[in-house]
Amino acid sequence: MVRKQNANTRYSYSSKKSKTCYSSTKGTPLSAYCSLPDAEQAADYANITYKSNLVPYKCAKCNDWHLSPGNRQTPSETCTVCISANGKPKELYTLQKDAKARAEILNKEQQVKLDIYKCPYNSGWHLTKSKLRR
Ligand SMILES: [Zn+2]
Ligand SMILES: [Zn+2]
Repeated sequence: MVRKQNANTRYSYSSKKSKTCYSSTKGTPLSAYCSLPDAEQAADYANITYKSNLVPYKCAKCNDWHLSPGNRQTPSETCTVCISANGKPKELYTLQKDAKARAEILNKEQQVKLDIYKCPYNSGWHLTKSKLRR
């Protein structure tokens, strides 16, 4: 693909507004990037210009790339065995601390209380809605 470089800037990337994905905090459409290099350019630009700490991630919903604050990124894969309540494979976190970090983010943003537990089938950790113990 040939890309036109704007002479005034070292950054050239193409972005669009997502039709499917919205910011969980502001409710505005997320910027979507077709490829990782586009998303990386945009992240670099924002990180330098606005002193942000953005990292690209591939969206499972729209298959484009979005940017999210670095500390939100918790490496995970999907479990081959466990299915979550919505019928999709559960996220499997390799490290307990990543599962914990994710639970804290969801707790803050969506007011859901999550527990972490060790996957009985794979080596990793899952999140589950906290059950009130009586
Ligand atoms: Zn998306
Ligand atoms: Zn599992």
